Amino acid sequence: MSDLQTALAEAGVAAVVDGDILAAHSVDHARLVAPGKAAALVRARSTEEVSAVLRVAGERGAPVVPQGARTGLAGSATAVDGAILLDVSPMDSILSLDPVDRIAVCQPGVRNAEISRAAAEHGLRYAPDPGSWETSTIGGNIATAAGGMCCVKYGVTAEYVLGLEVVMASGEVMRCGRRTAKGVAGYDLVRLFCGSEGTLGVITEATVKLSPIPADRLSLAAVFDTTAAAGRAVTAIMASGAQPSLLELIDGVHLRALEDMRPMGLPTDAAALLLVAADTDPAAELIAIERLCESSGASEVFRATDATEADALLESRRAAYHAMERLGTVLVDDVAVPRSRLAEALDGVAAAAERHGVVIGVIAHAGDGNLHPNIVVHPEDEASVAAGRAAFDEILEMTLAMGGTITGEHGVGMLKRDWLAREVDPVNLAVQRRVKEALDPLGILNPGKVLAG
Ligand SMILES: Cc1cc2nc3c(=O)[nH]c(=O)nc-3n(C[C@H](O)[C@H](O)[C@H](O)COP(=O)(O)OP(=O)(O)OC[C@H]3O[C@@H](n4cnc5c(N)ncnc54)[C@H](O)[C@@H]3O)c2cc1C
Repeated sequence: MSDLQTALAEAGVAAVVDGDILAAHSVDHARLVAPGKAAALVRARSTEEVSAVLRVAGERGAPVVPQGARTGLAGSATAVDGAILLDVSPMDSILSLDPVDRIAVCQPGVRNAEISRAAAEHGLRYAPDPGSWETSTIGGNIATAAGGMCCVKYGVTAEYVLGLEVVMASGEVMRCGRRTAKGVAGYDLVRLFCGSEGTLGVITEATVKLSPIPADRLSLAAVFDTTAAAGRAVTAIMASGAQPSLLELIDGVHLRALEDMRPMGLPTDAAALLLVAADTDPAAELIAIERLCESSGASEVFRATDATEADALLESRRAAYHAMERLGTVLVDDVAVPRSRLAEALDGVAAAAERHGVVIGVIAHAGDGNLHPNIVVHPEDEASVAAGRAAFDEILEMTLAMGGTITGEHGVGMLKRDWLAREVDPVNLAVQRRVKEALDPLGILNPGKVLAG
């Protein structure tokens, strides 16, 4: 038994130290972020165990890396040297669900889609729906402030979190927020933990807001010969006052990768496909949106004839990242630009791909101006990795010049920590450091993530 394992056992916590198991748990989906060498893995089953782990870590000055499902794309759940990997995914119960208060109280390891499945019998759902909804956890969603497909109309994770139980770096357990529809007592600590990437505390319970399942939903797919025309259509739709419940873009690189993976008749010679859904007065909304797509240059527009066809289209959007993984290792950018500049940003990504000689496909939560340029590299070829990283940086630089942000929803993690100082001003950065020092004076919580050393 290692010293650390003994100390954890004395605190009542079982830890795994097997090298192969640790290595398997040391990475998330940011494939180019090199992990450190973890010391132990704890699969926590209760708030008390999480608290015990943090007390032991504090005594020994050991770093703790909280982990959910490790579907993160920014290297924020990646191991650092000497870390205790604190996997909270076994805490996966929905503790209560109240259709009158319209809330669900969940342990952190509950998978996103499970909440909506449980709420469906009351005609309710948990709205934020990241592409990873079947696998990612609510704790990870809150810690990354995740976005998703329907967020263009219904908003992102932070808007749906009412209350939290958090184990602080000291091991103390804090409750913050509320279960009421309104409440403004004290500083908004719930919001502070949204997007904190495991660097300020470990979320052990979350009270989330549920909302009615929209009665009806219709979808269309519009085909474009240039990505810029698709970008213009998005701008026109948003400028028209329409409120699509989904507005996603899949570019030609992804369409071809998807069709290679699973033929379903996607238009592989198109430059981009826009997927649009509406759920208020869907028939009328889609007629207006169809016209806007056509006047922006769509070569074809297809209406999904029924819910099954609409779901198949959406499934292709959800599978797009995995289709790209078949082409090589994917370095995922996650920039958000003002919607009005989407077409320009898409052109900029294409120019970066050409300049650096790399394959970049783009999928986008287009209605939010949130682009995922997926850059394909081949790790065995150093030149390919260098070119991919150069394109990645160029896209970040372009985004900041447009008044955008380096991360729309995946977080900073290790992947973009050197870029944070380029987006926020020095006073902002100093305040962020002071918050971190106040809540985690020993610097044991997920060190090296978000804030550069
Ligand atoms: C195919 C695919 C599609 C995706 N689509 C989207 C998308 O549409 N929108 C989007 O926003 N993201 C998307 N992602 C990224 C990812 O799924 C999200 O970032 C998700 O929120 C991570 O959840 P997780 O449970 O996997 O967390 P992890 O990856 O395990 O952890 C992410 C971060 O949260 C911290 N953390 C995890 N649990 C806790 C906890 N209980 N307390 C404190 N900190 C914690 C970790 O330390 C880390 O910093 C996608 C990823 C994939 C692979």
